Amino acid sequence: MTKLARRSFLGGVCAAAVIGFDPVRRSWITSAAAAPLPTGLSQVPPLDGQLLSDPASLAAAADDFGHTIQQQPIAVLRPGSVDDVVKMVRYARDNRLSIAARGQGHSTFGQSQVDAGIVIDSSTLSTVHEVCAHGALVDVGARWRQIVDASLPQGLAPPTMTDYLDLSVGGTLSGAGVGGAAHRHGAQIDNVLELDVVTGNGDLCRCSYTENPLLFNSVLGGLGQFAIIVRARIRLIPVLPIARIFALGYTDLSTLLVDLGKVAFDQRFDHVQAQAAPLPAGGFGWQLVAASYTAGAPDDATLLAGLSFDPGSQQLVQIPYAAFLARIDPIIQAQINAGVWTNPHPWLDLFIPCSSAKTYVSSALAELSPASLGGGPILLYPLRRSKLHRPFFRVPQEELFFLFDVLRTAPRDATVVQAEIASNRSLYDRARAVGGTRYCIGSIPFSFADWQAHFGTSYGDLVIAKSAFDPHRILTPGQGIFGHGPG
Ligand SMILES: Cc1cc2nc3c(=O)[nH]c(=O)nc-3n(C[C@H](O)[C@H](O)[C@H](O)COP(=O)(O)OP(=O)(O)OC[C@H]3O[C@@H](n4cnc5c(N)ncnc54)[C@H](O)[C@@H]3O)c2cc1C
Repeated sequence: MTKLARRSFLGGVCAAAVIGFDPVRRSWITSAAAAPLPTGLSQVPPLDGQLLSDPASLAAAADDFGHTIQQQPIAVLRPGSVDDVVKMVRYARDNRLSIAARGQGHSTFGQSQVDAGIVIDSSTLSTVHEVCAHGALVDVGARWRQIVDASLPQGLAPPTMTDYLDLSVGGTLSGAGVGGAAHRHGAQIDNVLELDVVTGNGDLCRCSYTENPLLFNSVLGGLGQFAIIVRARIRLIPVLPIARIFALGYTDLSTLLVDLGKVAFDQRFDHVQAQAAPLPAGGFGWQLVAASYTAGAPDDATLLAGLSFDPGSQQLVQIPYAAFLARIDPIIQAQINAGVWTNPHPWLDLFIPCSSAKTYVSSALAELSPASLGGGPILLYPLRRSKLHRPFFRVPQEELFFLFDVLRTAPRDATVVQAEIASNRSLYDRARAVGGTRYCIGSIPFSFADWQAHFGTSYGDLVIAKSAFDPHRILTPGQGIFGHGPG
């Protein structure tokens, strides 16, 4: 494996024999074992971690969960410290190289990739430093699973959790982090108390609601455009130990949407989402999945009052809260076992305003057969605009809207994948025509003009923040916003 790892204090002492310490392998590197700098890089500063350019590391960083876009970097930094991130961003700035953080690489359309630049693999910075009522202080490569593993023994958890726990903190904070509690608490980006970030200028800055608020608001949901997040303090709230989970059937989409809106406004449940359920005769019905967290005697009648689910469809299970958070682990394990976890995933993720949801979702479903999804789910989450506070997280203008996810698993067939991506684009166009927006984790080809339309009246603010925090435009080209990327 090609690697470069040096510590400055060794330089003058024993540079001839030992040139550094590999913190991952926990061994000293001798000059005989050291490989040359990655092609295209020279005078890289001494690092605590590793700078890799072996084919396997480059290939891994050139791919993501979508497996439809590949852009190869010239090097992958596995930082051994925050200082390494500062040094590499400054190095990239001075050498006009593009650079992007990569969390778990679970975005689907090249968002974490860099063509001929440097990828920072944040998974080596994943320490959970502190968990208490004031929040969880974590390095940004930590996965949300690590946070809840540390916080649940104290009866605490982040207010909003994604369905999948093995996403990095940095990855979801650059996008949004939406889950079944977002109708109450906002997205994960709305539940951050403080950040340490490295701007595109190479400045390590602390920001919060009161300190550098422009940077704070820009970075959260900022698609990696302004800074690389290195540490975050995440809000925690007390949680109750038991989740009572209701699954309620709906054959009629309009009725489901009315009930989703009702529970989004009255907030009777802690968690709400809906999933399309393929019907034996073809087409889809729906299941509303709603959870209530409890420590004592539940009042189910009050929870279900006024909801118009199909008679006899109601199911109820009660499991520990921790098990509820990890509920999709068995599904993912089954996909891994079936060998489809590494298939292409041309996902479609859209926000649809309430007033158009019935018409839009019905027409989209008419084009999607269960077979065409490859076993992937179609999901709906009710969301409220007033709960979302970050300017670059673009959502519909109406107070109530829905995240509409079509989580396709495609066969390893380029023709099928391209057709599904074209379908995503067509569905996006129709969503935009009714005031919808995209959630930028998915797979939709996007032009510069599309990005301008996406940010709308905030586009000018985006350019101002970009000029202030990443003036050389080196950060996160994989989003494609400023013209170079897959979009
Ligand atoms: C099985 C599965 C389930 C999912 N469930 C949900 C869900 O319930 N809710 C939801 O909202 N999303 C969900 N997602 C989508 C997920 O939130 C995004 O794909 C997210 O980007 C994944 O995090 P990551 O660590 O893999 O990020 P990456 O894919 O590695 O990165 C995503 C983007 O963030 C940037 N980035 C990463 N780290 C940093 C950093 N430290 N500083 C600045 N920018 C950074 C990258 O450059 C890239 O542009 C799911 C994805 C999968 C595969």
